[in-house]
Amino acid sequence: MDKDLPALILAGADENIRADLENIFADKYSVVEAADEAACLEFIAGNSVKVVIVALFAENFDSFEFIKNLAHDDRLREIPIMAIIDHGDDEGAARALDLGAMEFFTRPLSRAVVRHRVHNVLARYENRRHRIEKVARDQYLTELQHYIDIDSLTGLYRRGTFYKKAADLMHANPYVPYAIVYLDISCFKVINDLFHIDTGNRILKTTADYFKRTLNPRVGLCSRVEADHFILCVPQDTLDIEKLICELDITIQSLNISHNILFYAGVYIVTDISLPIDQMCDRASMALRKIKGNYVTRYAYYDASLRERMLKEQMIVRDMDFALKDNQFTIFLQPIYNSKTKTIVSAEALVRWFHPESGMISPGYFIPVFERNGFIVRLDRFVWEAACKFLRGQLDAGKPVVPVSVNVSRLNFYSFDLVIFLLNLIKKYNIEPWMLKLEVTESAYTDNPQQLSSIIRQFKEIGFPVLMDDFGSGYSSLNMLKNLQFDVLKVDMAFVREIEQSERARKILRTIIELAEELKMGVVTEGVETQTQLDYITEMGDVDIQGYYFSKPLPLKDFIELFDKQTGN
Ligand code: C2E
Ligand code: CA
Ligand code: CA
Repeated sequence: MDKDLPALILAGADENIRADLENIFADKYSVVEAADEAACLEFIAGNSVKVVIVALFAENFDSFEFIKNLAHDDRLREIPIMAIIDHGDDEGAARALDLGAMEFFTRPLSRAVVRHRVHNVLARYENRRHRIEKVARDQYLTELQHYIDIDSLTGLYRRGTFYKKAADLMHANPYVPYAIVYLDISCFKVINDLFHIDTGNRILKTTADYFKRTLNPRVGLCSRVEADHFILCVPQDTLDIEKLICELDITIQSLNISHNILFYAGVYIVTDISLPIDQMCDRASMALRKIKGNYVTRYAYYDASLRERMLKEQMIVRDMDFALKDNQFTIFLQPIYNSKTKTIVSAEALVRWFHPESGMISPGYFIPVFERNGFIVRLDRFVWEAACKFLRGQLDAGKPVVPVSVNVSRLNFYSFDLVIFLLNLIKKYNIEPWMLKLEVTESAYTDNPQQLSSIIRQFKEIGFPVLMDDFGSGYSSLNMLKNLQFDVLKVDMAFVREIEQSERARKILRTIIELAEELKMGVVTEGVETQTQLDYITEMGDVDIQGYYFSKPLPLKDFIELFDKQTGN
């Protein structure tokens, strides 16, 4: 047998037939004789066999039984069977076809007929095989797609599928106003930590089942986009957000998990269907973030100002590093006056950001962002240095100086080199420590009282005056006052704001001032804007005043001018 040619098996035929077939297919197939069923099977197992040809006129060989067995053998049914019959043996041909043969030819063999029939049979088989493979492939692809589309834990759409289906839904119903609801489960990580992961999974599945039960798939969609986050896309008029959250809470409570599990939602009402779905979902999630950590409010709607705030915040983070190198930050000085003498006794350095595109950005915007991302440490150091530079400039010009106070944001207290940095700074600019006052707010105290107390002691040993900023604006002001040695109390603006209208507010402010005097501390009242406020405060004691009544924060040049006027320079 020629190894390179695919084989035809001939069963039950005599020598002549075999020679004929070999002759007919010499260029295409090798012809192999199988004496019986076992020999045939053995050969098929080890070779690439195209067709089994069975001679019906065989002696000592049950051709029909052979055909039947081949046709029903799972491993062999893919190989076509053909029969050779004696001329006129219609009955035999019919029986062979009936048992599973595909074609027959008659003896004596005609070269053309045999070649054509074998060719046709193989072509038909090949077609069928392709069809079968295609069906199997399609089925596999469908399964794969399902796997890609559907979250296996909950049976809900995954994120990508949800985006696509939601876009389709909205475009198919352009006049239906939709809402996107972003749902989150409170403290889900804690649940996974406290209980077995199965508990977390049970919560997710139960939540998904609730959506499957209550959401008509023709009008709304639901997805588990990640971990414990679900997104719904529903017609706005079918959404009752309070009811939804309440029912979800009850559904999960019915699982009897000994932990309070609550749902929170952010809602974006789709006003512009041309917006990509992922951005709609971002808006819903932005609304959700607004109430994160808030245990009373359980849902929030997205509004445009929120988006503006986020964009601004992104811009701030994007530009901050370059801005510092590019000298976009500068300091302003706000003069602080003594209430009795009405003269400038110190100043507070306040940072300003002149952004090349956005113009001046208020510290109220960027300081909280920097406090969150840590950049405040670098910015504060920049401001301290700017303040020292200013003082050095004044001294070099032979002018008298008043101390400048700078803000020391709480994150600074985590820097191991904070004290050294300040010490090096006054050395570098050759200024005396009393000239640089340090303002500390109580958030630093709540973070780490021990460490703060030790650092403040070091500040005082060096000789830096330490101020307690925004006194009375938080919870632990009095504790901080009791435990730490401040030189000056800066009373928060909120106290001053009300003293004109409220006798009670005046009493409180008076008490604070007396308390500070008792503790031998100086007092600065912030936010004094009117003559009346000033009069009340002046009457209460010898305090310093920082406020628009006297002056807004000024560019250095303006401050110098104002100060020169006072000192006669
Ligand atoms: P703060 O330290 O309490 O600074 C006083 C703020 O009150 C300043 O706002 C000042 O302009 C404002 N102010 C002064 N007098 C009045 C008044 O009569 N009425 C009103 N309505 N406001 C008055 P500014 O400069 O916008 O700074 C806001 C806050 O940003 C500061 O509050 C401080 O917490 C932070 N900040 C500013 N510069 C820096 C800095 O260099 N580093 C750090 N860490 N924070 C800074
Ligand atoms: Ca301050
Ligand atoms: Ca303040």
